Amino acid sequence: MPVHIHEDYVAWLVERLQARQGTHVVTINAEMTMQARQNPALARVIQSAELVVPDGSGVVLYLRSRGEKIKRCPGIELSEQVVEQAVRNQWRIFLLGGAPTVVDQVVSIWQQRWQNVAIAGTHHGYFDAVSEAQVCEQLQAAQADLILVGLGVPRQELWIDQHRHLCPKAIWIGVGGSFDIWSG
Ligand code: UDP
Repeated sequence: MPVHIHEDYVAWLVERLQARQGTHVVTINAEMTMQARQNPALARVIQSAELVVPDGSGVVLYLRSRGEKIKRCPGIELSEQVVEQAVRNQWRIFLLGGAPTVVDQVVSIWQQRWQNVAIAGTHHGYFDAVSEAQVCEQLQAAQADLILVGLGVPRQELWIDQHRHLCPKAIWIGVGGSFDIWSG
């Protein structure tokens, strides 16, 4: 299992952003590792992601049993900390996924919390093949620094892998159902 062990994931991601080094962040749990066994495309994407963090406690227990000194890193907390860094550095954020009202609610909550949050764009996650082309155009035109994708596992991981070339210098994070939580 290619879980990457960094002392400080957030600091590492800030460096990647400053260096404009495109990065796919996968936050992994036991369910996802089971899915990857049945889904070679997902397994390949997890292998090729620049950062895979241990989101689930099962993954942490497994790695500790193999002698790794590792701490759990819940994906939603990692994403929140990266968003805070984005606000501090005026990096532009794109939110993709969730229901239409949900993603807009997240934006308005963030705008209340941080007046200077830079939203590069949003799109809900219920698009068909036709509107997917528009989503891609929107993403490419926006060239956000941080792209949060909440389409559920494994769709979001596969989607990021297929589309990250549109914004090759961005940090892309699969955030699962985080938009639902952030929207209150
Ligand atoms: N979602 C979406 N488009 C879809 C299916 C799901 O945007 O076609 C969103 C859904 O609204 C939710 C998230 O994807 O916000 C999946 O949440 P879940 O808690 O199931 O995440 P997972 O357990 O897959 O990480």
